[in-house]
Amino acid sequence: MISILTVVKISEVQARSILNKSKIFDYCLNPYIGCSHGCRYCYAGLFMTRYSGHSEPWGQFVDVKLNAPELLRRQLPRARRGTVWIASVCDPYQPVESRYQLTRKCLRELSRRAFPVFIQTKSDLVVRDLDILKDLAELEVGFSIATDDDRTAALFEPGAPSVTRRLKALEKIKAVNLRTFVFIGPILPQNPEGLAGRLIGLADKVFIDRLNYTGQFINFYRSQGLLSCASDDFFKQMKERLVTELERSGLSFELIF
Ligand code: SF4
Repeated sequence: MISILTVVKISEVQARSILNKSKIFDYCLNPYIGCSHGCRYCYAGLFMTRYSGHSEPWGQFVDVKLNAPELLRRQLPRARRGTVWIASVCDPYQPVESRYQLTRKCLRELSRRAFPVFIQTKSDLVVRDLDILKDLAELEVGFSIATDDDRTAALFEPGAPSVTRRLKALEKIKAVNLRTFVFIGPILPQNPEGLAGRLIGLADKVFIDRLNYTGQFINFYRSQGLLSCASDDFFKQMKERLVTELERSGLSFELIF
């Protein structure tokens, strides 16, 4: 398990492209390669470690694309206007962002060109950029919150801020009337009624997803004595309870499985 004492290898690199086509949105933008949040269920980690040529385990390296804002400034005038997903294979507000501010600088470029933006994070650092977020032409900003329980989150998402901090940040974002969402995925052990209740008035939309079964993820569940929480029965039951509560609370939601 990654602890807060885990050493993360930070490297500064030059990227060749920053605004890339995406199958989910029009574009995806990843200012970093790697993610020190080190989530145990991270699908990006399955291929990004090999793709990036790193020998360190997922969660223990971050490549900083130093030229990301400048590249974006050059790419945007040639790009058809479309929604930019930040980020698809890293967290744009992982700790290294507080120093390099690449996400912030890229948002400025997107704001200048009035591109719609979809931001997904687990970090309350996003609140730092409220000044820019408020100026974006179109924006949805949200948090991945897979459980309502801070201890469970710490087990599965060892490098990420607590759920409590994420919810407080969501409150601040909602207070300035931005469009928000919460992504509950993969559903982790939780109190679904409690989680849904905490989202009332904070999330305009809730997405629900399950775990992709892979050997590496399953091994982790097994090592924690949580194998029953990586099963079809578990996801079905949790989905039903979440849906019932979201409907009762009048929250808009979308099922991804
Ligand atoms: S925050 Fe997202 S990208 Fe980062 S490790 Fe967790 S799931 Fe992967």
